[in-house]
Amino acid sequence: MNVSDHLRTQGLIHRYRDLLPEMPDEAITTIGEGATPLIEAPALSERIGARLFLKFEGLNPTASFKDRGMTVAMSRARAMGMRACVCASTGNTAASAAAYAARAKMECFVMVPVGKIALGKAVQVLAHGARIVQIEGNFDAALRLSKKAVEARDDLALVNSVNPDRIQGQKTAAFEVCEALGAAPDYLALPVGNAGNITAYWKGFTEWRDAGHVASTPTVLGFQAAGAAPLVAGHDIENPETVASAIRIGAPASKAGAMTAVEESDGAIEAVTDGEILEAQSLLASTEGVFCEPASAAGVAGLLKLAREGRAPSGTVVSVLTGHGLKDPDVILNRTKLPDPVEATFEAVSRVMEERIETSGREAT
Ligand SMILES: *Cc1c(COP(=O)(O)O)cnc(C)c1O
Repeated sequence: MNVSDHLRTQGLIHRYRDLLPEMPDEAITTIGEGATPLIEAPALSERIGARLFLKFEGLNPTASFKDRGMTVAMSRARAMGMRACVCASTGNTAASAAAYAARAKMECFVMVPVGKIALGKAVQVLAHGARIVQIEGNFDAALRLSKKAVEARDDLALVNSVNPDRIQGQKTAAFEVCEALGAAPDYLALPVGNAGNITAYWKGFTEWRDAGHVASTPTVLGFQAAGAAPLVAGHDIENPETVASAIRIGAPASKAGAMTAVEESDGAIEAVTDGEILEAQSLLASTEGVFCEPASAAGVAGLLKLAREGRAPSGTVVSVLTGHGLKDPDVILNRTKLPDPVEATFEAVSRVMEERIETSGREAT
């Protein structure tokens, strides 16, 4: 098997090609995205009172679900002969675009709000050799400027989730969830920022049902951060604020798609506080062994909140963990630090271990 034959067997375009927009073989740009695990979460299931699974999208090539849309968007841009791409980003779209553009041999510009991009994501953009343009404004301004740049040049592709190819790629996560469970889940809980992903999941679930693979679709529960919850407030938010930088968005570009998902699935969009988000992130890491970034924990934060209020969903629930915890190390380092060193003696080390084992409350079952 030569290299290009091997590549044609990788990634989600290969697996779901008949349900994706057409593109020629030679344009396909893949880094082996998709096929992420659906991880059962027994400890959180017990707290919530439903059977909870985590769709861990942090295990994509650039460590967020953005790679699903990017493989399709970049392949199509290449098929159309584009030379460069641009995106506005809170970080993960930038990291993904930078990687796929490197692979496609295209120039890549990412517009980010100055000082607001998480460390891991900035490092990825630099490593992949994209050009960061820091905007003295918020995400919404960056998106406006990116759209304008694309209007001015016909060899420049916009790879934000307003690009329908992104949604097409992202819908494949819903296919994978149904394949893993052998049925659609009863509920899907996920974070909502620009609302591209909730739009894509709903499209994926309905297409998979209409293709006859499953009989039903889940009820969709979207969660926004309380300081950046335009879909809950019913109007745009001028200065969105939240620790969950990936969903720090005041004017969601795919608002209409989110509303359709909620209405057709009899779902809802609600808000969770930063405190609830960080608590869920911490519980995921310390009780399930799954480390996601703050925004990614919004779905689980929402489920825990509903459980506390006696409104928890029942049956099979899937929560999408959209990005990896290593994306945003500062959030952890701001709250904890490495303990002081101890003497290099057996006694000192034993003391630490005994104390911890007596007090931690962890017991293997
Ligand atoms: C992009 C992103 C989101 C939000 O997705 P939208 O499609 O903008 O709603 C949530 N979490 C992470 C980690 C992201 O990168």
